[in-house]
Amino acid sequence: MSSSTRMALVTGANRGIGFAIVRDLCRQFKGDVVLTARDVKQGRKAVQQLQAEDLSPRFHPLDITDRQSIRALRDFLLKEYGGLDVLVNNAGIFQSGDPTPLHIQAEVTLKTNFFGTRDVCTELLPLIKPQGRVVNVSSGYGFKALENCSLELQQKFRSETITEEELVGLMNKFVEDTKDGLHRKEGWPDPYTSDGLVYGVTKLGVTVLSRIQARKVSVQRGGDKILLNACCPGWVRTDMGGPRGLKSPEEGAETPVYLALLPSDAEGPHGEYVFEKKVEQWKFNSQFYLPSQVTCPD
Ligand code: NAP
Repeated sequence: MSSSTRMALVTGANRGIGFAIVRDLCRQFKGDVVLTARDVKQGRKAVQQLQAEDLSPRFHPLDITDRQSIRALRDFLLKEYGGLDVLVNNAGIFQSGDPTPLHIQAEVTLKTNFFGTRDVCTELLPLIKPQGRVVNVSSGYGFKALENCSLELQQKFRSETITEEELVGLMNKFVEDTKDGLHRKEGWPDPYTSDGLVYGVTKLGVTVLSRIQARKVSVQRGGDKILLNACCPGWVRTDMGGPRGLKSPEEGAETPVYLALLPSDAEGPHGEYVFEKKVEQWKFNSQFYLPSQVTCPD
Protein backbone atom coordinates (compact mmCIF):
# COMPACT_ATOMS: atom_id res chain seq x y z
CA MET A 1 0.00 0.00 0.00
CA SER A 2 1.41 3.40 -0.84
CA SER A 3 0.89 6.49 1.27
CA SER A 4 -0.64 8.14 -1.79
CA THR A 5 -3.54 5.65 -1.83
CA ARG A 6 -6.64 7.47 -0.61
CA MET A 7 -8.44 5.92 2.30
CA ALA A 8 -11.83 6.22 4.05
CA LEU A 9 -12.69 4.67 7.40
CA VAL A 10 -16.02 4.07 9.16
CA THR A 11 -16.49 3.16 12.83
CA GLY A 12 -19.16 0.74 14.07
CA ALA A 13 -19.66 -0.55 10.54
CA ASN A 14 -20.55 -4.22 10.97
CA ARG A 15 -24.27 -3.44 10.88
CA GLY A 16 -26.87 -0.72 10.55
CA ILE A 17 -26.08 2.72 9.12
CA GLY A 18 -22.31 2.22 9.36
CA PHE A 19 -22.51 -0.87 7.17
CA ALA A 20 -24.60 1.03 4.61
CA ILE A 21 -22.09 3.91 4.66
CA VAL A 22 -19.25 1.47 3.90
CA ARG A 23 -21.21 -0.07 1.03
CA ASP A 24 -21.87 3.37 -0.45
CA LEU A 25 -18.27 4.47 -0.03
CA CYS A 26 -17.04 1.26 -1.69
CA ARG A 27 -19.13 2.26 -4.71
CA GLN A 28 -18.30 5.96 -4.79
CA PHE A 29 -15.01 6.71 -3.02
CA LYS A 30 -11.87 6.61 -5.14
CA GLY A 31 -9.56 4.72 -2.81
CA ASP A 32 -9.57 2.06 -0.10
CA VAL A 33 -12.45 1.77 2.35
CA VAL A 34 -11.82 0.31 5.81
CA LEU A 35 -14.74 -1.21 7.69
CA THR A 36 -14.07 -1.27 11.43
CA ALA A 37 -15.93 -3.14 14.17
CA ARG A 38 -15.25 -3.99 17.79
CA ASP A 39 -16.16 -7.65 17.22
CA VAL A 40 -13.69 -9.18 14.77
CA LYS A 41 -16.03 -12.01 13.80
CA GLN A 42 -18.91 -9.64 13.06
CA GLY A 43 -16.58 -7.29 11.20
CA ARG A 44 -15.20 -10.04 8.95
CA LYS A 45 -18.71 -11.35 8.33
CA ALA A 46 -19.78 -7.87 7.19
CA VAL A 47 -16.77 -7.65 4.86
CA GLN A 48 -17.67 -11.04 3.37
CA GLN A 49 -21.22 -9.86 2.80
CA LEU A 50 -19.91 -6.90 0.80
CA GLN A 51 -17.44 -9.08 -1.07
CA ALA A 52 -20.41 -11.16 -2.20
CA GLU A 53 -21.67 -7.91 -3.79
CA ASP A 54 -18.33 -7.51 -5.63
CA LEU A 55 -17.16 -4.78 -3.25
CA SER A 56 -13.75 -4.87 -1.54
CA PRO A 57 -13.59 -3.13 1.84
CA ARG A 58 -10.67 -3.88 4.14
CA PHE A 59 -11.20 -4.73 7.80
CA HIS A 60 -9.56 -3.45 10.97
CA PRO A 61 -10.75 -4.00 14.54
CA LEU A 62 -11.76 -0.92 16.53
CA ASP A 63 -13.46 -0.54 19.89
CA ILE A 64 -13.91 3.19 20.31
CA THR A 65 -13.99 2.88 24.11
CA ASP A 66 -10.54 1.28 24.18
CA ARG A 67 -7.63 3.69 23.77
CA GLN A 68 -5.23 0.84 22.91
CA SER A 69 -7.52 -0.35 20.15
CA ILE A 70 -7.67 3.20 18.73
CA ARG A 71 -3.86 3.51 18.87
CA ALA A 72 -3.40 0.17 17.11
CA LEU A 73 -5.65 1.47 14.33
CA ARG A 74 -3.72 4.75 14.21
CA ASP A 75 -0.44 2.82 13.79
CA PHE A 76 -1.98 0.72 10.99
CA LEU A 77 -3.18 3.85 9.18
CA LEU A 78 0.19 5.56 9.47
CA LYS A 79 2.08 2.50 8.28
CA GLU A 80 -0.21 1.58 5.40
CA TYR A 81 -1.49 4.97 4.23
CA GLY A 82 0.50 7.68 5.98
CA GLY A 83 -2.80 9.00 7.39
CA LEU A 84 -6.42 9.02 6.23
CA ASP A 85 -8.65 11.04 3.92
CA VAL A 86 -12.12 10.33 5.31
CA LEU A 87 -13.18 9.50 8.87
CA VAL A 88 -16.82 8.69 9.64
CA ASN A 89 -17.46 8.44 13.39
CA ASN A 90 -20.62 6.36 13.27
CA ALA A 91 -20.36 3.94 16.24
CA GLY A 92 -22.91 4.64 18.96
CA ILE A 93 -25.28 3.12 21.49
CA PHE A 94 -28.78 3.89 22.75
CA GLN A 95 -30.46 2.48 25.85
CA SER A 96 -34.21 2.70 25.84
CA GLY A 97 -36.81 1.75 28.43
CA ASP A 98 -33.95 0.51 30.55
CA PRO A 99 -34.41 0.00 34.30
CA THR A 100 -30.67 0.72 34.85
CA PRO A 101 -30.20 3.67 37.26
CA LEU A 102 -30.04 6.95 35.44
CA HIS A 103 -26.48 7.89 36.34
CA ILE A 104 -25.19 4.51 35.12
CA GLN A 105 -27.11 4.93 31.86
CA ALA A 106 -25.58 8.38 31.55
CA GLU A 107 -22.06 7.13 32.26
CA VAL A 108 -22.28 4.13 29.92
CA THR A 109 -23.86 6.04 27.03
CA LEU A 110 -21.46 8.96 27.35
CA LYS A 111 -18.50 6.59 27.45
CA THR A 112 -19.25 5.36 23.94
CA ASN A 113 -21.08 8.18 22.21
CA PHE A 114 -19.16 11.16 23.52
CA PHE A 115 -15.87 10.05 25.06
CA GLY A 116 -15.27 7.21 22.56
CA THR A 117 -15.89 9.52 19.59
CA ARG A 118 -13.67 12.16 21.20
CA ASP A 119 -10.83 9.67 21.78
CA VAL A 120 -10.99 8.52 18.15
CA CYS A 121 -10.79 12.16 17.06
CA THR A 122 -7.92 12.93 19.43
CA GLU A 123 -5.86 10.09 17.91
CA LEU A 124 -6.95 10.32 14.28
CA LEU A 125 -7.62 13.99 13.52
CA PRO A 126 -3.87 14.78 13.42
CA LEU A 127 -3.59 12.10 10.68
CA ILE A 128 -6.26 13.60 8.41
CA LYS A 129 -4.71 14.58 5.12
CA PRO A 130 -5.28 17.89 3.32
CA GLN A 131 -8.81 18.10 1.84
CA GLY A 132 -9.83 15.37 4.29
CA ARG A 133 -13.42 14.97 5.46
CA VAL A 134 -14.61 14.14 8.97
CA VAL A 135 -18.21 13.20 9.71
CA ASN A 136 -19.51 12.75 13.25
CA VAL A 137 -22.84 10.95 13.25
CA SER A 138 -24.91 12.75 15.86
CA SER A 139 -28.68 12.89 16.29
CA GLY A 140 -31.68 15.21 16.30
CA TYR A 141 -32.13 14.01 19.87
CA GLY A 142 -29.17 16.21 20.74
CA PHE A 143 -31.31 19.22 19.82
CA LYS A 144 -34.22 17.89 21.77
CA ALA A 145 -31.93 17.62 24.80
CA LEU A 146 -30.58 21.13 24.17
CA GLU A 147 -34.06 22.64 24.06
CA ASN A 148 -34.88 20.92 27.34
CA CYS A 149 -31.83 22.37 29.09
CA SER A 150 -32.01 25.53 31.25
CA LEU A 151 -31.28 28.78 29.39
CA GLU A 152 -27.97 28.99 31.22
CA LEU A 153 -26.86 25.57 29.97
CA GLN A 154 -28.21 26.31 26.48
CA GLN A 155 -26.08 29.44 26.38
CA LYS A 156 -22.99 27.40 27.24
CA PHE A 157 -23.68 24.75 24.60
CA ARG A 158 -24.52 27.32 21.93
CA SER A 159 -21.45 29.45 22.72
CA GLU A 160 -19.02 30.07 19.86
CA THR A 161 -16.11 30.07 22.31
CA ILE A 162 -16.80 26.99 24.46
CA THR A 163 -13.61 24.90 24.73
CA GLU A 164 -13.26 21.12 24.55
CA GLU A 165 -12.20 21.08 28.22
CA GLU A 166 -15.33 23.03 29.22
CA LEU A 167 -17.50 20.65 27.20
CA VAL A 168 -15.88 17.60 28.81
CA GLY A 169 -16.49 19.24 32.20
CA LEU A 170 -20.18 19.67 31.37
CA MET A 171 -20.56 16.05 30.20
CA ASN A 172 -18.92 14.79 33.41
CA LYS A 173 -21.14 17.12 35.44
CA PHE A 174 -24.21 15.58 33.81
CA VAL A 175 -23.18 12.16 35.18
CA GLU A 176 -22.41 13.60 38.62
CA ASP A 177 -25.68 15.54 38.75
CA THR A 178 -27.74 12.48 37.80
CA LYS A 179 -25.86 10.47 40.45
CA ASP A 180 -26.68 13.09 43.10
CA GLY A 181 -30.27 13.47 41.88
CA LEU A 182 -29.51 17.11 41.04
CA HIS A 183 -29.96 16.99 37.27
CA ARG A 184 -33.25 18.90 37.26
CA LYS A 185 -32.00 21.55 39.67
CA GLU A 186 -28.81 21.97 37.62
CA GLY A 187 -30.79 22.60 34.44
CA TRP A 188 -30.43 19.26 32.60
CA PRO A 189 -33.34 17.80 30.66
CA ASP A 190 -35.43 15.44 32.73
CA PRO A 191 -34.98 11.94 31.28
CA TYR A 192 -38.13 10.82 33.09
CA THR A 193 -40.30 13.09 30.94
CA SER A 194 -39.11 11.61 27.67
CA ASP A 195 -37.26 8.47 26.75
CA GLY A 196 -33.99 9.14 24.98
CA LEU A 197 -32.89 12.27 26.80
CA VAL A 198 -29.76 10.65 28.27
CA TYR A 199 -28.84 9.59 24.74
CA GLY A 200 -29.80 13.11 23.63
CA VAL A 201 -27.31 14.71 26.02
CA THR A 202 -24.53 12.44 24.71
CA LYS A 203 -25.36 13.44 21.13
CA LEU A 204 -25.61 17.10 22.12
CA GLY A 205 -22.03 16.58 23.30
CA VAL A 206 -21.07 15.09 19.90
CA THR A 207 -22.57 18.04 18.00
CA VAL A 208 -20.90 20.67 20.21
CA LEU A 209 -17.63 18.72 20.06
CA SER A 210 -17.81 18.79 16.26
CA ARG A 211 -18.23 22.57 16.26
CA ILE A 212 -15.24 22.94 18.57
CA GLN A 213 -13.10 20.57 16.50
CA ALA A 214 -14.00 22.38 13.29
CA ARG A 215 -12.92 25.68 14.85
CA LYS A 216 -9.62 24.12 15.91
CA VAL A 217 -9.01 22.64 12.46
CA SER A 218 -9.64 26.06 10.88
CA VAL A 219 -7.12 27.71 13.20
CA GLN A 220 -4.43 25.01 13.18
CA ARG A 221 -4.71 23.78 9.59
CA GLY A 222 -6.55 26.53 7.80
CA GLY A 223 -4.77 25.96 4.50
CA ASP A 224 -5.55 22.24 4.34
CA LYS A 225 -9.21 22.64 3.36
CA ILE A 226 -10.36 19.95 5.78
CA LEU A 227 -14.15 19.90 6.32
CA LEU A 228 -15.56 18.51 9.58
CA ASN A 229 -19.27 18.29 10.36
CA ALA A 230 -21.86 16.60 12.55
CA CYS A 231 -25.00 15.14 11.02
CA CYS A 232 -28.22 13.30 11.72
CA PRO A 233 -29.10 10.31 9.53
CA GLY A 234 -32.82 10.57 10.30
CA TRP A 235 -34.89 7.87 11.98
CA VAL A 236 -33.55 4.68 10.48
CA ARG A 237 -34.74 1.06 10.60
CA THR A 238 -31.75 -0.54 12.35
CA ASP A 239 -31.31 -2.46 15.59
CA MET A 240 -31.12 0.95 17.25
CA GLY A 241 -33.90 2.71 15.37
CA GLY A 242 -36.30 -0.24 15.41
CA PRO A 243 -38.66 -1.45 12.68
CA ARG A 244 -40.85 1.69 12.65
CA GLY A 245 -38.05 4.00 11.49
CA LEU A 246 -38.83 6.20 8.49
CA LYS A 247 -35.73 5.31 6.47
CA SER A 248 -33.83 2.26 5.28
CA PRO A 249 -30.15 2.05 6.35
CA GLU A 250 -29.22 3.02 2.76
CA GLU A 251 -31.32 6.18 3.04
CA GLY A 252 -29.83 6.85 6.48
CA ALA A 253 -26.34 6.65 4.96
CA GLU A 254 -27.05 9.39 2.40
CA THR A 255 -26.21 12.47 4.46
CA PRO A 256 -23.06 10.99 6.11
CA VAL A 257 -21.82 9.86 2.67
CA TYR A 258 -22.63 13.24 1.13
CA LEU A 259 -20.45 14.90 3.80
CA ALA A 260 -17.70 12.28 3.42
CA LEU A 261 -17.54 12.91 -0.32
CA LEU A 262 -17.72 16.71 -0.42
CA PRO A 263 -15.66 17.67 -3.50
CA SER A 264 -12.05 18.71 -3.02
CA ASP A 265 -12.79 22.35 -3.93
CA ALA A 266 -15.79 22.63 -1.55
CA GLU A 267 -15.52 25.48 0.96
CA GLY A 268 -18.25 24.09 3.22
CA PRO A 269 -20.20 23.04 5.07
CA HIS A 270 -17.71 23.09 7.94
CA GLY A 271 -18.47 23.00 11.67
CA GLU A 272 -22.15 22.54 10.94
CA TYR A 273 -24.94 20.15 11.86
CA VAL A 274 -26.37 18.68 8.68
CA PHE A 275 -29.69 16.90 8.20
CA GLU A 276 -31.03 15.74 4.81
CA LYS A 277 -27.86 17.23 3.24
CA LYS A 278 -28.82 20.68 4.52
CA VAL A 279 -27.28 22.76 7.29
CA GLU A 280 -29.68 22.92 10.23
CA GLN A 281 -30.05 25.63 12.80
CA TRP A 282 -29.70 24.83 16.46
CA LYS A 283 -33.21 23.52 17.01
CA PHE A 284 -35.08 20.26 17.26
CA ASN A 285 -37.03 19.79 14.05
CA SER A 286 -40.22 18.22 15.32
CA GLN A 287 -41.92 18.26 11.91
CA PHE A 288 -40.24 14.95 11.12
CA TYR A 289 -41.94 13.15 13.98
CA LEU A 290 -45.47 12.11 14.70
CA PRO A 291 -46.26 12.72 18.38
CA SER A 292 -46.37 8.97 19.02
CA GLN A 293 -42.95 8.56 17.44
CA VAL A 294 -41.14 11.05 19.56
CA THR A 295 -39.42 8.30 21.52
CA CYS A 296 -37.36 7.31 18.46
CA PRO A 297 -33.57 7.64 18.86
CA ASP A 298 -33.29 10.00 15.90
P1 NAP B 1 -26.90 0.09 15.40
O1 NAP B 1 -27.61 -0.65 14.36
O2 NAP B 1 -27.19 -0.20 16.83
O3 NAP B 1 -25.31 -0.06 15.13
C1 NAP B 1 -24.42 0.56 16.01
C2 NAP B 1 -23.02 0.19 15.59
O4 NAP B 1 -22.11 0.82 16.51
C3 NAP B 1 -22.76 -1.33 15.66
O5 NAP B 1 -21.90 -1.70 14.62
C4 NAP B 1 -22.05 -1.46 17.01
O6 NAP B 1 -21.21 -2.59 17.13
C5 NAP B 1 -21.22 -0.19 16.99
N1 NAP B 1 -20.65 0.12 18.29
C6 NAP B 1 -21.27 0.31 19.47
N2 NAP B 1 -20.37 0.52 20.44
C7 NAP B 1 -19.13 0.45 19.85
C8 NAP B 1 -17.81 0.57 20.31
N3 NAP B 1 -17.53 0.77 21.61
N4 NAP B 1 -16.79 0.47 19.42
C9 NAP B 1 -17.05 0.26 18.11
N5 NAP B 1 -18.29 0.10 17.61
C10 NAP B 1 -19.31 0.21 18.48
O7 NAP B 1 -27.12 1.67 15.23
P2 NAP B 1 -27.42 2.56 13.94
O8 NAP B 1 -28.85 2.85 13.92
O9 NAP B 1 -26.76 1.98 12.77
O10 NAP B 1 -26.69 3.92 14.38
C11 NAP B 1 -25.47 4.35 13.82
C12 NAP B 1 -25.24 5.78 14.31
O11 NAP B 1 -26.33 6.61 13.92
C13 NAP B 1 -25.16 5.90 15.83
O12 NAP B 1 -24.19 6.84 16.19
C14 NAP B 1 -26.54 6.41 16.21
O13 NAP B 1 -26.54 7.11 17.43
C15 NAP B 1 -26.84 7.30 15.03
N6 NAP B 1 -28.27 7.55 14.83
C16 NAP B 1 -29.12 6.52 14.55
C17 NAP B 1 -30.47 6.78 14.34
C18 NAP B 1 -31.47 5.70 13.99
O14 NAP B 1 -32.66 6.01 13.85
N7 NAP B 1 -31.05 4.45 13.80
C19 NAP B 1 -30.92 8.09 14.42
C20 NAP B 1 -30.04 9.11 14.71
C21 NAP B 1 -28.72 8.83 14.90
P3 NAP B 1 -21.73 -4.00 17.77
O15 NAP B 1 -22.45 -4.73 16.68
O16 NAP B 1 -20.47 -4.68 18.19
O17 NAP B 1 -22.63 -3.65 18.92
